Amino acid sequence: MPSNLRIDAERLWRSLMETAAIGGTAKGGINRQTLTAEDGMVRAWFKREAEALGCRVSVDEVGNVFAVRKGRHGGLAPIALGSHLDTQPTGGKFDGNLGVLGALEALRTLIAAGYETNAPFMVVSWTNEEGARFAPAMLGSGVFAGLYRRADADAIRDSEGIRFGDALEGIGWRGEVKAGAMPLSAYLELHIEQGPILEAEDKAIGVVTGAQGVRWYEATITGRESHAGTTPMPRRADAFVACARLALQVQAIALAHKPAAVGTVGRVEVEPNSPNVIPGVARMTIDLRHHDDDTLEDMERSLHAAIEEIALDDKVDIALKKLHDVAAIKFDPDCIAAVRAGAAALGFSQRDIISGAGHDAVHLSKVTPTAMIFVPCKDGLSHNEAESATLEHCGAGAQVLLEAALALDAKLGTR
Ligand SMILES: [Zn+2]
Repeated sequence: MPSNLRIDAERLWRSLMETAAIGGTAKGGINRQTLTAEDGMVRAWFKREAEALGCRVSVDEVGNVFAVRKGRHGGLAPIALGSHLDTQPTGGKFDGNLGVLGALEALRTLIAAGYETNAPFMVVSWTNEEGARFAPAMLGSGVFAGLYRRADADAIRDSEGIRFGDALEGIGWRGEVKAGAMPLSAYLELHIEQGPILEAEDKAIGVVTGAQGVRWYEATITGRESHAGTTPMPRRADAFVACARLALQVQAIALAHKPAAVGTVGRVEVEPNSPNVIPGVARMTIDLRHHDDDTLEDMERSLHAAIEEIALDDKVDIALKKLHDVAAIKFDPDCIAAVRAGAAALGFSQRDIISGAGHDAVHLSKVTPTAMIFVPCKDGLSHNEAESATLEHCGAGAQVLLEAALALDAKLGTR
């Protein structure tokens, strides 16, 4: 049985549109990059709204904002719901915003009904999820989860040389709370899918069970530079031909682990890059992703085998360097079950789904039981001013968010 609490989808939509005007672009998107004046304005909006609801709002030393409504049991750690309010330079209205404003709508619904939770109920907005101005992405949640230190975050510079710490103080959002000092009972994040699966299958809710593991490599292929006109084909050691064959192998490796595996060669450099010289060196990046680390390990083994074969056939040397290795994330079974049961009780169509993108929830999952809820977005389009989601889907997502939070809260009460 679902709760008898119902979020107000129209009210959620109004908040989405109201905040979308802060940094709103002519094409209907949002340019509200981290720690800009616009970011300061939307933070102030969020704080005002939360305080008007009677929440205590606190800010930590990397600018993460927490709005807390007390629970019945003082001893319990808060259940946190949230996402981020910063956007890409040509961002959309829903990425991140839906997660914070959907959580705020859940909070409004609790308050309007006079419903008391066992644990404190927290809405959180993480600093710099996008990473567009200050890399890496998911920085605020990363500091919270203990992956980065505050000092490391402070020292990061944007393309104009401005330090993160100075920008944070510049907009007046350096808080007192030590980052990461706060234990949580659980963390739930509502987000648009940013991919095409839910829309294609006409499902309202994606029950996110985890996030993909990612491995990045750079392959440097060394052949022999020589004259394009005078070197007979059998005598060549063409670094680019080997690179092209390896790119096809990357595709084949991903297809051999369908449907979830993906493999991409996104950057290729050829030397000397001259029309009449057989390339002597080619450098390429390889990006492999899957939600299961064992499968990723298999894919990596296949990559090594492909490299050995191509090196032999094409008489080149191929050196492979791993640049980046992020393990796959499995979200908390109880949190996933709460989302699944909530969606089912409310009668929404649903399917399990793996996140292909990074989210604050990935970092939070390291320190607290975590899950995510996806809703469809039009054409799977995101990080784009044309990003679009329906009022109905946003409302369904916020309702499932509330329902899952209530289920987790009920369990805390029985302890
Ligand atoms: Zn996002």
